[in-house]
Amino acid sequence: MSKHIPTRLVCDFCCSQNNTVAWSYPAKTFTITQEVADMTVDSTSHGGWAACDACHNLIESNNRISLVERSFDHLCTNEGWEDLKLRARTDMQVNIIKQSIRQLQDNFFSNRLGPCSRANQ
Ligand SMILES: [Zn+2]
Repeated sequence: MSKHIPTRLVCDFCCSQNNTVAWSYPAKTFTITQEVADMTVDSTSHGGWAACDACHNLIESNNRISLVERSFDHLCTNEGWEDLKLRARTDMQVNIIKQSIRQLQDNFFSNRLGPCSRANQ
């Protein structure tokens, strides 16, 4: 393991720490409250979003379906998402979570402030 990232950066889309977070997307701060299964999930996005190379490619090609799939596969361990994933036992429950991810990411796209730039430069 040789990493040159000084702080614990994670991709804000897939939450992966295995990939280098290489991109920074300026965005406005926003909060959304979602009812997912029987849980209420508050998601506050503070300013810009970081992205790994893989997510960056999906964002730039506007491939939002694959971006949601990737996010679900690497689901965040914070804000209750991991619990939700573990509790999702049916296709319908999985789809509800994916719809919530999609809603969150759609909010990112509508709160974006201009083009991305390379991070850590
Ligand atoms: Zn990512």
